[in-house]
Amino acid sequence: MSRIRLLSETVASQVAAGEVVERPASVVKELVENSIDAGARKIDILIRRGGISLVRVIDDGSGMDRDDALLSLERHATSKIRSASDLEAIGTLGFRGEALPSIASVSRFRLTTREAEAVAGTEILVNGGKIETVREGGEAPGTQVEARSLFYNLPARRKFLRSENTESRNIEHQIHLQAIGHPQIAFTFVRDERTVLQLPATASLGHRIRDLFGNELLERLLEVNEEASSAIAIRGLIGRAGVSRQTRDQQLFFVNGRAIESPVLSAALREGYHTALMKGQYPITFLFLEIDPAAVDVNVHPAKREVRFRDPNSVREAVVRSIQRALDSNRETWQEQFRGPAPAAGGTTSVSSELVSSGIEGRDRARPSTFAPPFPAPVTGDPTLGTAVSDHGYSALPADASTRTGNAQQFQIIGVLNKLYILMENAGGLVLVDQHAAHERILFEELRRRMEEQGVPTQRLLIPQTFDLPPRDTDWIERNMSILQKMGIGIEAFGPNTFKIDSLPAFLNTSDPVRFMQRVIDDLKSSSASSSPMRLGEEMIAKTVCRHAVKANDPLRFLEIEKLIQDLLACDLPYCCPHGRPTMIQISLTELEKKFGRKV
Ligand code: ADP
Ligand code: MG
Repeated sequence: MSRIRLLSETVASQVAAGEVVERPASVVKELVENSIDAGARKIDILIRRGGISLVRVIDDGSGMDRDDALLSLERHATSKIRSASDLEAIGTLGFRGEALPSIASVSRFRLTTREAEAVAGTEILVNGGKIETVREGGEAPGTQVEARSLFYNLPARRKFLRSENTESRNIEHQIHLQAIGHPQIAFTFVRDERTVLQLPATASLGHRIRDLFGNELLERLLEVNEEASSAIAIRGLIGRAGVSRQTRDQQLFFVNGRAIESPVLSAALREGYHTALMKGQYPITFLFLEIDPAAVDVNVHPAKREVRFRDPNSVREAVVRSIQRALDSNRETWQEQFRGPAPAAGGTTSVSSELVSSGIEGRDRARPSTFAPPFPAPVTGDPTLGTAVSDHGYSALPADASTRTGNAQQFQIIGVLNKLYILMENAGGLVLVDQHAAHERILFEELRRRMEEQGVPTQRLLIPQTFDLPPRDTDWIERNMSILQKMGIGIEAFGPNTFKIDSLPAFLNTSDPVRFMQRVIDDLKSSSASSSPMRLGEEMIAKTVCRHAVKANDPLRFLEIEKLIQDLLACDLPYCCPHGRPTMIQISLTELEKKFGRKV
């Protein structure tokens, strides 16, 4: 007796629905994508009870005639591709011809649609995959799809749904994705009779971001615009250095207009931000890749959430470069703004004990012509040389002459708070500098420069030391020998699995070279950035610098502070330490005025 049977169309659709329609948010995704593909200018989404009770999507797109409307509910019926070769260059969001029949098979479904010139439209009612009614309908041109009681006929699936709130949030996220991907389309979103979103059509991504998340976020973003090659263009908005979140919710990528998840792109972001990103944080990105459709395969996942790049390396490199360039481009504006001349009238005067005791400080009081530092003068070293000698080692590495710009007069150092935060005034208001983070950034860039150029200065060990390593670590050292040497670590093989170490970077302050090496290996072996030797070197510096930088509460002398600020401003990425923490915080006069109730 034969046991194999063809599944009925309805059951087959329900099987397919398992992949396409995972949850209410997938219904919204598929319907909105259809509306976008139909050329809609405006899309209205309405949900009830997390979309489980109702999802309704209304568009003003092309609409369908009666025959197409009926066909659209058949499996594998699509107007978007015709032959297998079309799969090689997909320009629409849909192409699988699965969404409508899948949704219709797991809900009480209603489709009404009308082409612009048609006198009448069509209305089709489907129940759990069975067409129940087809009649003329009189709606406005465009298409309206309703799915009620999702999974009412698949109790097993229904059980997997989360709370209404969670499902609603997933839907909202999905709508955000579509809205960001298509700023030229107006969107509204109504949840349980409450209007959540009302987004007018706009020409620019920036406006859409502002309408969704407010000006505050927009102001913290940088523009990316990179024509990487004839095959890849990257544009969009990304968070400035140090602007990040604890979740990936705002780390969005679009490939040819389609929101996707991509480990390749996530890794590229990380690499692009590198030291501008705090550990465990995700950058905020709204990044749009335009790629030759033939160079990307979207037919990977039934929900079309993932893509495969034909040449992932070139995509990765292009993204890394575009991020780095955007971060770089911001530097000069930032420095200029930072150094802008202090306001003529409202400048801070240095607080001498005399003023403090008199208790009154007129705002118009003339700025003292010379700045009297509220710090003891350096006891050692000649202050006129500008490099204070200190045993806390800020000047352990004399900075290159070119990093000294002599702009000291454009901001004023007020004092140091809690032996850690340097208080300064600039045109924008109050600036707080974390002296430890600042020092780390300076040392990091200095060491990186040396590593790239002549190598880090080394210090010979009094007694060279040998040590043994397990074979895998041996292999790691052998592969990275040259970069270790550039880093100032004098290491060579001394037998199988044995190494000799006879010098260490001069800046390093360790009494136990072998333990230091073990830590370097442990830290770096696990590092994801082992892709290039330079990267590895950077990683290594970032990890060692921290231990060497000025301790949080080392008191610095005035000249040291001044130099620290100068050197920081001359850095490539002054806004954050090598671990992505901010080095400086600006508090504007407006913010202060608000706090003091002078302004609302
Ligand atoms: P796909 O989008 O992969 O082609 P769907 O099942 O989502 O498959 O839709 C089937 C077809 O129905 C589409 O190819 C399209 O021609 C038509 N269609 C679906 N939704 C709409 C809509 N909102 N407006 C106009 N046509 C639509
Ligand atoms: Mg579709």
